[in-house]
Amino acid sequence: MFFLDRLDLDRRFRLLRREFEGRGVSEELRGWSFDSPPVEPPSRSVLFSVSELAGRYCESMRDIYLRRVLNVKPPPSVKMARGVVLHVVNREVLSIVKRLLFSGGVKCGSELVESLLPMTGSVVDRAISEAEGLLASLGEDVRAQLKGEASAFFRFLSVQAAARVDQVISKYPHSDVDSIVSIAVPPVVERKVDGSLVGLSRELSVDIYTPFNAIADLKTGEVREFHPYAATGYALAIEAEEGIPIDFGFVIYVKIEGPRFVPSFRLRYFVIGDELRREFLELRDEAYQVVSVGRDPGKPSKCPDYCPYYTVCKGERI
Ligand code: SF4
Repeated sequence: MFFLDRLDLDRRFRLLRREFEGRGVSEELRGWSFDSPPVEPPSRSVLFSVSELAGRYCESMRDIYLRRVLNVKPPPSVKMARGVVLHVVNREVLSIVKRLLFSGGVKCGSELVESLLPMTGSVVDRAISEAEGLLASLGEDVRAQLKGEASAFFRFLSVQAAARVDQVISKYPHSDVDSIVSIAVPPVVERKVDGSLVGLSRELSVDIYTPFNAIADLKTGEVREFHPYAATGYALAIEAEEGIPIDFGFVIYVKIEGPRFVPSFRLRYFVIGDELRREFLELRDEAYQVVSVGRDPGKPSKCPDYCPYYTVCKGERI
C-alpha cells in the first residue's frame, strides 16, 4: 500500500519466512484440501462472511445466533461507519491514481498530487454516502468528524502516491507508464474471492493481496487479539480457489487523530500457520452448529462493552 514501506516489508518478510521454514503448514490445513476434513465445511449451504467468524467479540457465539437465527443486525455505530469510509477512501485513491497515470494526462508526482487534491471533497462524499447506504444515516456531528478523518486520509495517501511515482521515475527514467504503475502502485486492493469451497461467502473482499504470498487486513479500530483470524479465513479461501499458498498475513491498523491529523499506522505480522488455521476452522464449524441447531447459546461470562451487539443483549432489544 502507499503507506507501507517496501524496505520495512522486506525485512519483516525475511523474518517471517524464517519462522515459516521452521514450522511449515500442514497439507491437510491448506485451503485446497477443501474436500476432506478439517478444511471441508460441515455444509456448503450455509456460507459465512469472514468478518462474521473472525470478529470474535462473543465467546459463546451468541452474535451468530442473533444475526443468523433471529436476523438481528448490530446497531450501526461510528466505528462501523469509520471502517467503511476509510476502506472506500483507500480503494478510491488506488483506482484514481491508476486512471490518471494510464490516461497519460499526468506524467509525474507533482502533477499527480495537483490532480488528486481537488478531488478530496468528492471522494469523501462518496465514501460517506457508501457508509450511510450500508449502515444508516449519520448525524451531522458524526458526519463532520468522519469527513475530517477521511479528508486527512485521502490527502495523506495522495501525497504518498505522488512521492512513490516520482521515486520510480527517478530510478527508472525510461520506464513506461505500465512499469511505473506496476512498481509504484500497490498490488490489488479489495480482491474478490469465492470462499464457498471452504464454507465462506461467494464474494469475499480481501483488503490487500500482495506478491509476498501474503494478505493484509486494514483495521480502523483498536487492536484485538482475534484480528489475525480474518487473514486466515481469506488465506483458506484463496488457497481453495486458486491453489496457491498464502503463508503470511498482516493487519494494518490506521488511526487518524489531532492535532495534525496525519494518519499513523501500526502493523502486526504473522505466519498463517496450523494453529490459526485450526482455530479458524473450529470457529466456522461451531458457527454452523449454532445456526443448524437454532438454539440461543446464552451469554458468555463476560460481555465486552465494545461488542457490536452490546446494547442489544444488555437491553434485550430484539
Ligand atoms: S453482548 Fe455479550 S452475549 Fe451479546 S453478542 Fe456480545 S458478547 Fe455475545
